[in-house]
Amino acid sequence: MENNKVKCNGCGKEYSVRGITRHLKSCKAIKNDYLDGFNKYYVLKIRDAYRKEFFIYVNVLGRLTLEDLDQFLRDIWVECCDHLSCFSYHGDDYSIGNRSSFGIDGTDIKLKDLIESGESFSYEYDFGSTTKLEIDVIDGLYGKKREHLIEILARNKMPDYYLDNEEYPDPSNSPRIGVCGYDGPLDRFKDITSWGKIEKETKKTTINKAYKELIRKTNEFIKVKPFKVFPSDVLIVIEDPKTDESYYCSILGNSEEEYGLNIHVGSFGLSGFFDMLFDSDSLDLFQNMNYLALMFDDLDDLLDEDIEIFEKYKPNTLYGMYPFFERSYRGEAFRNLESKEFRIISLVLERILVIHDEYKNRIEELLKQKEQGNMFKTFFKNGKWQYDYTEEFPVFESVQFSELDVKRIQKNNKKSSDKWELTSIFFQDLTENHFFPEMIVLQDKASGMVLNQTVVEGEKDSSKSAKELIEETMNQNKIIPMEIITDRKFYCDALKDYLAGLNTKIYLEDMSEFMREFKNGIYQINEEELTERMLNELPQELIEELMKAELNNEEIDEDKLMDIIRRLDIDLF
Ligand SMILES: [Zn+2]
Ligand SMILES: [Zn+2]
Repeated sequence: MENNKVKCNGCGKEYSVRGITRHLKSCKAIKNDYLDGFNKYYVLKIRDAYRKEFFIYVNVLGRLTLEDLDQFLRDIWVECCDHLSCFSYHGDDYSIGNRSSFGIDGTDIKLKDLIESGESFSYEYDFGSTTKLEIDVIDGLYGKKREHLIEILARNKMPDYYLDNEEYPDPSNSPRIGVCGYDGPLDRFKDITSWGKIEKETKKTTINKAYKELIRKTNEFIKVKPFKVFPSDVLIVIEDPKTDESYYCSILGNSEEEYGLNIHVGSFGLSGFFDMLFDSDSLDLFQNMNYLALMFDDLDDLLDEDIEIFEKYKPNTLYGMYPFFERSYRGEAFRNLESKEFRIISLVLERILVIHDEYKNRIEELLKQKEQGNMFKTFFKNGKWQYDYTEEFPVFESVQFSELDVKRIQKNNKKSSDKWELTSIFFQDLTENHFFPEMIVLQDKASGMVLNQTVVEGEKDSSKSAKELIEETMNQNKIIPMEIITDRKFYCDALKDYLAGLNTKIYLEDMSEFMREFKNGIYQINEEELTERMLNELPQELIEELMKAELNNEEIDEDKLMDIIRRLDIDLF
């Protein structure tokens, strides 16, 4: 009878087979062990589908993959001669690794992205003499990082039947006992209580001072809730005393839909922001942005890196949502902050809290100025922070030119009746949400012929590259065009003054149908469309490079691709 009792490894007390499930959901020792953590764990009840006297309760880290769980089940219960195995969940089969290729490849699927509390799934090992396990997700917990990947909370004692039984001379506590060549678990002489050590971090977890400061200010922001005062369309301009760069900030949350802080960096950031506001179907929405953000998300949706940050810095939550940071610079996908950006967000948070304090009862003033097209601006001058209003759409200062340069170009070139078109194209990775640098193309409007093209590297200001491209083309052809038409407001604004000096009119026009078509083919490449268009329109060399990376599921070698793009045949356009 004693074998009917099950010991809880959390509190050490024994319970009946029927009572242990309920106990594990409420065991105080276990619950106390899982306070203040951000890592997702699941309590699983695993038992044999037929030999129900074999069961095991485990606590598994949510970011373990199906491959990890498969390995655990093999190690503790089922492995005999490397048979195939699979999981079944919601009617889908998940195979593991290169052992087999049916169903969905579950190798890298994380438990936390698949299972949920209250659900069940199953596992089969060996499709000949199958051992079938049923797995119930009986609870979900959040906790600190633990020493092991899987902890065994409780398991059945060796059933009497198999003891002193001639049929089982060498019994082991596994539902695969007596099946195929099974001769016990890897660790057969010890009743293990955990599996898989979490790798110790080799570098010491030092607290980054700047990041700590950033979290301190974020906590203050969460406490003060400035979005209750500032509507999200009120832009606050903060000039960085160190770099003179302007940050155009909008505080989200006034409509109580989305909370956060967007910081559009520099005039490029501002132009991207306006593009987004006024041209919401613009395809290159995020390729155009230059911004840093404080955002909030559900714990379950956070990335592992963010969770590590939570463990280290313990920020406050806002209405149950967790703060995290994001950046997106031109031509790049979202990614985590770099250290120099900690300071920027800290500075912005600090200024916003001060402005909030001074303006929370005078918000009407800001709104009135906004109606007149002015933005609230703060800057550090004469040893103190000052405030002012500034016009929206400030003159873009990114294109510097000297009168001498203009005179030189005018002298060496004849004004023509040519109309040129300035377009930019982004290339997007097939597998990652990553954009390659921008290519700027200068076309002759009448013939459609490409006059010149250049690639903008990294974070270089593309308006400067556009200016250089135009100058180079004028010098090569010994002409000054009558008009330059562009599809991007940013170029239009940034080059306006420069081209006015050359008596060239620049204006914004919708892209020609041709270029739009071409852009659609390159943007948001979807596999089927890509194959067809690629074969027709892209150079073979580029296709091969893209395909190779896609097939191998690798990151595309950007340098290689850039080389190819640079050597692109002009006929492509
Ligand atoms: Zn207990
Ligand atoms: Zn076997």
